[in-house]
Amino acid sequence: MRIYNSLTDKIEEFKPIKDNEVTMYVCGPTVYNYVHIGNMRPVITFDMVANYFKYLGYKVIYASNFTDINPKIITAAKELGITEREVADKFIKAYLDDLKSYNCNEIDYRPKVIDNLGNIYNFIKALIDKGYAYVNDGDVYFRVSKVKDYGILSNQDIEELESGARVDVDPKKEDPLDFALWRKTDEGENFLSPWGYGIPGWHTECVVMINSIFGEKIDIHGGGIDLKFPHHENEIAQSLALHNNTLANYWMHNGHININGTKMSKSLGNFILARDFIKDHDANVVKIVMFKTHYRLPLNITDELFNEAKIINEKVYNALKQANLSIQLNNLKIGNISVDDNINKIMDEDFNTPNLISYMMELVKELNANLRSKKDICDTYDKLKLVVNILGLVYNFSVLSESDIDLYNKWVLLKNNKDFEHADIIRKELESKGIL
Ligand SMILES: [Zn+2]
Repeated sequence: MRIYNSLTDKIEEFKPIKDNEVTMYVCGPTVYNYVHIGNMRPVITFDMVANYFKYLGYKVIYASNFTDINPKIITAAKELGITEREVADKFIKAYLDDLKSYNCNEIDYRPKVIDNLGNIYNFIKALIDKGYAYVNDGDVYFRVSKVKDYGILSNQDIEELESGARVDVDPKKEDPLDFALWRKTDEGENFLSPWGYGIPGWHTECVVMINSIFGEKIDIHGGGIDLKFPHHENEIAQSLALHNNTLANYWMHNGHININGTKMSKSLGNFILARDFIKDHDANVVKIVMFKTHYRLPLNITDELFNEAKIINEKVYNALKQANLSIQLNNLKIGNISVDDNINKIMDEDFNTPNLISYMMELVKELNANLRSKKDICDTYDKLKLVVNILGLVYNFSVLSESDIDLYNKWVLLKNNKDFEHADIIRKELESKGIL
């Protein structure tokens, strides 16, 4: 298995920290609003990554956080006339509902900042004790200049960054690049820390939650490309300071989403909420649209791409449905194949989902041919199901009862006897039951 590592800008052989186990963390949403379709790309991408590792036989331990303490939440609380907790709870629930409607995976941990404040205080204290952070008037800042590898992820050197940061000079900071670990505020919901009332900095939350769930280091840290700098760079800086490691061995970033060639933004009016998008689109089709482009590349959503994905989805659905029927009517044994070398060849090279979709369509063709010749249906069906599961596509088919099977056999008999009038009546009944 080879993964493109953003940290080294190379495709590298994947070596887990613990044999047969993968620990993964993906930055989750700041819960002050409904998420947009761009926020769904990391979720769907890293579900696929987890699915593939499971297919390879790994135990996957996956965490993704909620940023439920943030200035944006304080602003939203004022606007909505409710408390910060009510804002956070409302949008956490909405987010989880969205994930359900996209058939996303259940994951192992969804930590919240509010449950980690004690850990955050200890973490910041340790950084201060080691000289990597300093207190100024109730704020605590990270001393970037003390980390010699700062810029390792985003490939920028400190001098370059300094000149960029100088535009926005904050007199409370020793250096413009320093970032807040703790910010003094008496506005909205705030918390009493060893440095007074305030709220924690976003970059600290993620590191602390990773450390408290997994320990000092994980295998894979993921997120959207927009988080690479400064968020992920600053997570790494804190981990280098405290634990002398890069927090994760592999850093993975998914590309952003464009709609018909333009970046999604509120001002352009092409800002699509995930919950609105799924009203008009099947979850499988959305996933196929996403996976037709490699996760690292920018994804351009167009009507053409959607139409193509719809056709793919229908073809997979129809082939699986016919196979499912044939398997049940003939009592065939499925589940014999759990590994397919073709899948490994495609996916072992940094999760090449566009090629996996091409392979899926080859399997659909093969399955349709096998259904006609009534040979090798189960093997092809198994392989197709493996692909479908890795991509997180969900197809549900009815389980046939005895009477369904009788009805089906009756239909076949009537057809064979050329009694098309009665066969038609039964066909309609079979169709209404979702069997045909
Ligand atoms: Zn994060």
